[in-house]
Amino acid sequence: MKLFRPERVFFEPSALKYPLGRQIFDRFKNTDVEVVETPIQNVLKKIPGDTEREKFARAKKSLVVSVNKKNKFDICKPSADYEFSLVSNCPGVCEYCYLQTTQAYKPYLRVFVNIEEIFENIEEHIRQNSQNSIANESNILTDTEGNINTNSLQTQRITTFEVASLGDPLSLEHISGSLARTIEFFGTLDNGRLRVVTKFDNVDTLLSIEHNCHTHFRVSLNSKYVINSFEHNTTSLEERINTASKLSNAGYPIGFIIAPIIIYEGWKSEYTELFSSLRKQIGSKIASSKPITFELIQHRFTATAKEFILQRYPNTKLDLNEENRQLKWGKFGRFKYVYPKDKANEIKAFITELIKSNFPSSIIEYFT
Ligand code: SF4
Repeated sequence: MKLFRPERVFFEPSALKYPLGRQIFDRFKNTDVEVVETPIQNVLKKIPGDTEREKFARAKKSLVVSVNKKNKFDICKPSADYEFSLVSNCPGVCEYCYLQTTQAYKPYLRVFVNIEEIFENIEEHIRQNSQNSIANESNILTDTEGNINTNSLQTQRITTFEVASLGDPLSLEHISGSLARTIEFFGTLDNGRLRVVTKFDNVDTLLSIEHNCHTHFRVSLNSKYVINSFEHNTTSLEERINTASKLSNAGYPIGFIIAPIIIYEGWKSEYTELFSSLRKQIGSKIASSKPITFELIQHRFTATAKEFILQRYPNTKLDLNEENRQLKWGKFGRFKYVYPKDKANEIKAFITELIKSNFPSSIIEYFT
């Protein structure tokens, strides 16, 4: 897929104090890309567009080079213990994107350049987490004869971090290079593991770096109908499968996120086709000794997301009818609309069976 090139790049003044900020500045200055130095609060005003749709489309072509000031880590269940970000948002245009809820008012792309500080925070967090874990678990880790179970102790100390919950880091990797550095950083950590998910194929710079199998790559897959109808400006199904194959050959533990799983006319035959072509194309090519993992996420939307989706994609074919859904309390204190229990159970049972029959040695990590 063609690499993203922004229309304009905003630099927060503080970002230019970091080597990566300067490096990105040098890359774009004296090019036809508009370069603007401005504080983050002025960015939206400087993105052209009269309507919400226009503004959104131009924001998706606007990159902000920024500093990640967050030094606390949010919990990221069920995909990992915690999350952190190297980027936020992405040039992809998925109509259902979960960021319509959390970043609806700031749909521009960001890269964070204070990588060393982010690494320091992660190391400190892992250290504290390990200490707390040992203190909390010391009773459980003792067997009936009082012996310490060191295997369990070791398991308790591993802390996992999701790096793709605010956006797709692969989509901007050719500009920042920060995911490669992060993978190498996690490769040196005894007690930290990284989890990445992507819909992009920009992985060639990651194939020969020292990852030490500490990064678990998951590729986001879906039926042809969902990819073609809702996941604009992302890679095709074939490109994603090829990406997974490349990463696996480079020794990364590999998984797939099937999300969002959507019920529509013919959904069962299309998801059947997805798993069967995945098995044919990748089944024998997985090089990692670790089992393939699957994560299953049914479609959901919030009231905020619905409002923005209808403004940005007035002809969307997404089913956003609340009457077809049930409410579930979600992260960040918001209700979301998910499929009613019987439909959710049907999705779970159907996709689980497809995975078991096509990938008998794989692990299904969760359905949500
Ligand atoms: S690729 Fe991911 S982050 Fe980007 S628009 Fe699609 S769902 Fe959102």
